[in-house]
Amino acid sequence: MYLAIVLLIALASPVASQDTTKTAPDPVAALVARLDLEHYKATLKGLTRFGDRRQGTARNRAAVDWIEQQLKSYGCSVVSRLTYDYQPPTPLAATGVRPARDTTRAVGGGRSRGLRARTGVNSDSLRQPDGTLRALDAEPSTPGRRQEVYCTKIGTTHPNEMYIVGAHMDGIGWGEAANDDGSGTALVLELARIFAAPDVITDRSIRFALWNNEETGLNGARAYVEQRQALQGREEPAGSGRYPEPTWLGMIQHDMMLFDHGMPRADGTLGPDQRPEADVNIEFQSRAKFADAAQRLAWLFEAANEQYATDYPASVGPHMTNTDSAPFQDLVAAISLREDERGTQIGSGWDPNWHQPTDRYSTYTDPDFRLGLNAAQTTLAAVAGLVGATLK
Ligand SMILES: [Zn+2]
Repeated sequence: MYLAIVLLIALASPVASQDTTKTAPDPVAALVARLDLEHYKATLKGLTRFGDRRQGTARNRAAVDWIEQQLKSYGCSVVSRLTYDYQPPTPLAATGVRPARDTTRAVGGGRSRGLRARTGVNSDSLRQPDGTLRALDAEPSTPGRRQEVYCTKIGTTHPNEMYIVGAHMDGIGWGEAANDDGSGTALVLELARIFAAPDVITDRSIRFALWNNEETGLNGARAYVEQRQALQGREEPAGSGRYPEPTWLGMIQHDMMLFDHGMPRADGTLGPDQRPEADVNIEFQSRAKFADAAQRLAWLFEAANEQYATDYPASVGPHMTNTDSAPFQDLVAAISLREDERGTQIGSGWDPNWHQPTDRYSTYTDPDFRLGLNAAQTTLAAVAGLVGATLK
């Protein structure tokens, strides 16, 4: 009876009870609310129209142009291109005997466990059953000049310092590179769009970078580090208040965001659905020079996920590897966000579409796309806090 009366009072006076706990609205929550599953999917689909976007092809250059147009249409303050040259390495001569490899150790330093399935890169065009897509992916890569695009949200009080938020826009495998790495590229574009809104103010700067040539050995990110590392924090021209390369405070990479269907079964097949316990994997590299700072950054992202992500939790691991954050890891705190751990899980066959003709938009369902959206919520919330984002 007493309970019923209390409930009645509570229900009767919702306005009064809200007034007593009045606090300033949380700008991070307001920004996260601007992310939307359908918009994320539409951006990802837009990228897949350029096929696998293999580096050194017309379809890759068309995708770079499209990304640049998107960034400009969002109103991102400064859109820039980095130019570099890429020459593929000459294949090493066969040495006869290959050294035995410890197959229990995964790339990145983790330990592989449980059931594993085959992985590899598809290079057979005939395994793409869709003739239109096969034709779109047909042009081979030509060595030479390459470009990649980045745009920068300029901070109001500390324009000379920035966080880098990245993903790679190139792919391989005779599909649409939808998950690897259309899903990360779309995430970065969505964040660029939200931070570029005229009512969003940040104390510090944020650079949104869409790396090229990841699949050939992180060459686009390496070129960026090589060309721009020494320019950090320099005001140019002197007295202008402009910093073409703000000092790096952290590098956050996104690479394969959609698919966490768990471990392969004994016959090598995967579950058809996103597993209910799917998570966003936040990795740092424990062997990096900046491992301590990177680990702190990783846990800050985990906390942002707990507070702001709507559906899927995050977990932190120490084996970040094989993505564009690696060239940064000895220079600044660097982490990566993924659908699975790169070494022990993706490396053990947890993603059957990886570098395959099946990496197409139509392969994935809303619970898959929603994992990518939750990673976007995680990074948006964490970065908004780090740069002191507020709404006008
Ligand atoms: Zn990738």
